Order: sequence, then structure tokens, then C-alpha cells
Amino acid sequence: MTERIVVVGHGMAAVRLVEELVARGVHRTGHITVLGEEPHPPYNRILLSAVLEGTHRPEAITLRSPEWYAEHGVELRLGTRVVDVHREAREVELADRQLVPYDRLVLATGSIPTLPPIRGLVRVDGQLHEKVHAFRSLDDCARLERAVPSARRAVVVGGGLLGLQVARALSVRGVETEIVEGAEHLLRSHVDEKSGAILRRSLTRLGTTVYTGARAVRLTDDGLRLDNGYTLDSDLIVLTAGGRPSINLARRAGLSTRRGVVVEDTLASVDDERIHAIGDCAEHDGRTTGFVPPAWEQAEILADRLAGGSANYDGHRLVARLRATGLDVAVLGDPDLTTGPAPEGAEVVEVANPIAGSRRRLVIRDGVVVAATLVGDLSRIGLITQAFDRGTVLGDHEPGALLMGYAAGPSPDQAAQALPDDAEVCACAGVSAGRIRACTSVEEARETTRATTGCGGCASVVRTLIENGLRAVPS
Ligand SMILES: Cc1cc2nc3c(=O)[nH]c(=O)nc-3n(C[C@H](O)[C@H](O)[C@H](O)COP(=O)(O)OP(=O)(O)OC[C@H]3O[C@@H](n4cnc5c(N)ncnc54)[C@H](O)[C@@H]3O)c2cc1C
Repeated sequence: MTERIVVVGHGMAAVRLVEELVARGVHRTGHITVLGEEPHPPYNRILLSAVLEGTHRPEAITLRSPEWYAEHGVELRLGTRVVDVHREAREVELADRQLVPYDRLVLATGSIPTLPPIRGLVRVDGQLHEKVHAFRSLDDCARLERAVPSARRAVVVGGGLLGLQVARALSVRGVETEIVEGAEHLLRSHVDEKSGAILRRSLTRLGTTVYTGARAVRLTDDGLRLDNGYTLDSDLIVLTAGGRPSINLARRAGLSTRRGVVVEDTLASVDDERIHAIGDCAEHDGRTTGFVPPAWEQAEILADRLAGGSANYDGHRLVARLRATGLDVAVLGDPDLTTGPAPEGAEVVEVANPIAGSRRRLVIRDGVVVAATLVGDLSRIGLITQAFDRGTVLGDHEPGALLMGYAAGPSPDQAAQALPDDAEVCACAGVSAGRIRACTSVEEARETTRATTGCGGCASVVRTLIENGLRAVPS
């Protein structure tokens, strides 16, 4: 009997899962249905700030068109919200009460923004105050975009990843922008104080004012009041602090949830082997992720399982590569190691150039890179990720050599060319230099490996590897 695979959500994890299922031919042996609430074809959420900044058109961030789904016989239903899962009947119920049967159900419902405790954000009629914006979807982005031309000043609440991206985009658009962050430095959940200071400096250069150690407490007619006594006059308030995995469906269906939907190494719910969860909504080994690289790794592993394989997810590879033009950040390893001082038995090796806005920091234990932070210069990311992934034991001088960028070492082009074939180039899609070298054009690499389609931080390395490979081929 044809297996019916139903995917709820059509975000970045779901699209990758379907690509991987198609690559394994599951669309020929089974029937795949994708039910997505948003009315748009799946798009690259990481690039929303590029749309706001004006460097990308909304259509340019589409990951796969409806035609691609149709060509592969995958049923894509946009603007379709799933409201319930009936586990006994093995059906999901849509908002219009239609029932869709499944043999395997994949929850890829992502996360939802949460409102910070600021009085006055919500009006008496229950609607958000007209100045207040969220920034998670293409529709949020379009609404904010419409407000920008008449805005003079904006406050971004939250100095995490989203906050930095939005603040940068608004500043580039000429809006006087202020960031309010409750922690003592920017990107507190991912980097330490010194890296936070470098990011602050980069934003300040763009004209953004940064308030750290301050919380917004009330929105009044005079502006947004902070707990340090300041009131920020503003035409726009963008909420980027807070978000949580979207688990309501799973919870109502009686599946175990904590912060996310609790899954085994097989990425199946601990209560129901026919139901899986991947991406931002999944919780594995007590951890939810919130980034594209783990979401795509999970998608690939689940595709293998649904195709009859036996791959398991071990969640050990914590990689976050954050994208905002001019604010490149990559973080490898446990946040405890990237945000604080080196623990006992570990050493920190670092190179910083605050003037140029860059810092590279490795945490080394027993000669092995156990964590890394790169801010403002990702030219060494390939080699560092390779050492991190493999647990390579480094000699005394090797950490320094790994960190040295173009000032003392080869140019970024030379560094890219020197990458061994098995060095990882695209952290989002997990693509090695060798796989890129086997392609004859950037388009081919994009299509066959999906490199460059995530955060896009690997685009220049991919181009260099391909151009160099082509030059080496005799005509
Ligand atoms: C502005 C922004 C910038 C980001 N930048 C980075 C970055 O630089 N690097 C990085 O690694 N990560 C970044 N992230 C995080 C990254 O986008 C997420 O980790 C990734 O999108 C997770 O994929 P997902 O499929 O789990 O969730 P999502 O991409 O959020 O997709 C979930 C989808 O499910 C749909 N859905 C939910 N419930 C239902 C339902 N009941 N019925 C039908 N559909 C439903 C939602 O509408 C949504 O379309 C960023 C996120 C945002 C918002």
C-alpha cells in the first residue's frame, strides 16, 4: 500500500525534508502532502531582513516553487492550517474541518513569537498597538516594510539574532534605530561580552543606538519607557525578543511536550512512532535548537528513516551561523563555552581586531576545538568547522594558524582553494568542498547540494571553488 506522509508546516525544515525525500525517490513509492499555514510558497526566513533592507525582492527568497512540488507529485496546500491531530483515526483536521489521513505525520511547525511583558503593547480591543510589529514571517516583513517610509525613529526590542538583523536593516533604510536589550551585551545567548562589544560597535557605526542592561516596560503616548528611566520616542516598535516552539497541536494530541515536542533519536515522538517532529518545534535530549543547520540535519535524517534507512540524530553538532549583511557571526559548540570564560581544563585562543569589527575565538580542551566563535570575519570557518567536527587533536601552534586570517595568512580566495575536499563549506546544508568542486556552476551546486540556499554565508567560497575548478579543467 502507498504510504501517506503528511507534513504539517512548510517552513525551512519541511522544505528540506521534502527535497531529501524526493532525492531518495519516496515521492514515487509514497504520497507526500505538505500542509502550510502561510499563503506563500516556502521561503528562506533567514533572508527576511535582506528583504526589509531592500537587497532582495520577496520572490527571490522562495526556496521551492509550487511548480517544483507539482513536478514531483508532492501535494502542497498553502494557506492551510492544521487544527487537530486525531491519533487513533490517523487523521489531521484542517481549519475548514476537512480531514487528511496519514500513515506518517511530520510536525514541522517551527516557533511562534511571544509578547514580552510590556504594558500597552496590546490595545483594549485585543489587537497589537499600531506601532508594534513582529518579525517572523513574510507577512510581518511586508507590514513593517509598508510602515518604514513614514517612520523616522524605531525601537527594536531584543538584542539577539533577529534584533541585530532588523536593526541593521532599518538603519540601512535610513530609520533612526535604537535597540533595547535586557542582558548586559548583545547576542547574550551565543557570544561572550567581548564579541557582544564588537557587534555593538558595528551597529553603532551604522547609527544604531544600543541600550543594554535595560528593559522596555511600558508603551505610552510619549514613547517606549525603559526601566532605567529613559523614554524612547518612536514611530515603530519591532518585537524580536522571545519566541517559543509551536507545540499546541502536539500537546492537544496528547504527545509529550516540554519546551518542544519530545523526540527520540529516530526523531519520532516518544509516545507515537508514526508521528515525528523536526526543526524549531522538536526537542531532543532536553534541547530545542532554533537554527537552520540542526533543522536541516534533522530533515535529512528523518528522510533517511522514512525511506527505510536507520540514521539517528545525536544532536551533538551545535552549529549556528547567523546572517545579517555586515554582521556575520558563526558559533560552534555548546553555548556555555561560547558565552562564558573557558572552563577548568580548557584554554581560549583568540584573535581580535575591534577596529575592523572582527574577533575569532577557539576554546581548546586537550588539543581539540570544543567551541568556536567568529564575529565579523568568517573566512576561516571551513577549516575551523572541519577541526571541530572531526575532533582533530591540534599541535601547540595549530590553533593560532587556524585563526589567522588574511592579515598574516592567505587571502580568503587562497584559503578557500586550500580547503581539503572533506572540509565543510556550507554549515546549513552540510556540504563539503569536494562536492562543490564536482559542480560546474554555482547554479548546479545550488540545485544539487543546496549549498548557499540557507544563510548564504558560503556563497563567496562556493564561487571561488567552482571558478578555480573550472580554470583547472583543460579546454
Ligand atoms: C527573521 C529571522 C531570521 C533568522 N536568521 C537565522 C540565521 O541567520 N541563522 C539561522 O540558522 N537561523 C535563523 N533563523 C531561524 C530559522 O529561520 C529557523 O530555525 C528555521 O526557519 C526553522 O525551520 P522550521 O521549519 O522548524 O520552522 P519555520 O521555518 O518557522 O516554519 C514553520 C512553518 O510551519 C507553519 N505552521 C505552524 N503551525 C502550523 C499549523 N498548525 N498548520 C500549518 N502550518 C503551520 C508556519 O506558518 C511556518 O510557515 C531566523 C529566523 C527568523 C524569523
